[in-house]
Amino acid sequence: MHVLVIEDDDAVADGIVDGLSDRAITASRVATGEAGIAAVEHTRPDLVILDLGLPDMDGTEVCRRLRATSTVPIIIVSARDEEVDRVVALEIGADDYVVKPFGMRELVARIHAVTRRSGADAGPAPDPAPSTPSRLVIDSRARRVLLDGVEVHLTPREFDVLEYLDSDRGAVFRRADILRDVWDTTWFGTAKTLDAHIAAIRKKLDDPGWIEAVRGVGFRLVEP
Ligand code: CA
Repeated sequence: MHVLVIEDDDAVADGIVDGLSDRAITASRVATGEAGIAAVEHTRPDLVILDLGLPDMDGTEVCRRLRATSTVPIIIVSARDEEVDRVVALEIGADDYVVKPFGMRELVARIHAVTRRSGADAGPAPDPAPSTPSRLVIDSRARRVLLDGVEVHLTPREFDVLEYLDSDRGAVFRRADILRDVWDTTWFGTAKTLDAHIAAIRKKLDDPGWIEAVRGVGFRLVEP
């Protein structure tokens, strides 16, 4: 298992990296959010330990950006211990949250719990490509949607929403992010508008199971 530590504090980072290597877990470390995002893309770690207070950007922003492209398990470590941060951390897609100061035993227990949940303990990361082709094909170039080979007619905005969710199948997208990215930023949409589009897409796909609502967070595209 390879763990990426994104932490600017040398003492904390060294403690984590040394503590993990003592337990036969390979860890590498970067000190900024930008370096962390690049490292996840290039080294594909099995798990990320992410500090919230980074010099170049807030850890919540790093987490949000990682989630836009990756399903890597993320454990946030933070000196802030307010409950609100825990809620925010989980809302932005982190898998767990540890408050500083923490012991290595606690951190390692969380790492094992999170990787067990995500299946990363089972060995090398599974091939991101599905073994069988999906019944649902979203062709961005032609802006066409095929379900079991039959074209599904969506409105342009419905297509945009579905294509957005399809950009990372299985990943949860926050409502606010969908509204911001699919509708333009100057548009003050309500959650009801998004819900109406989701409902319309589900109906046209003949199965509400394609789009799963994650309570209090948003939506994800899954194989029903
Ligand atoms: Ca820090």
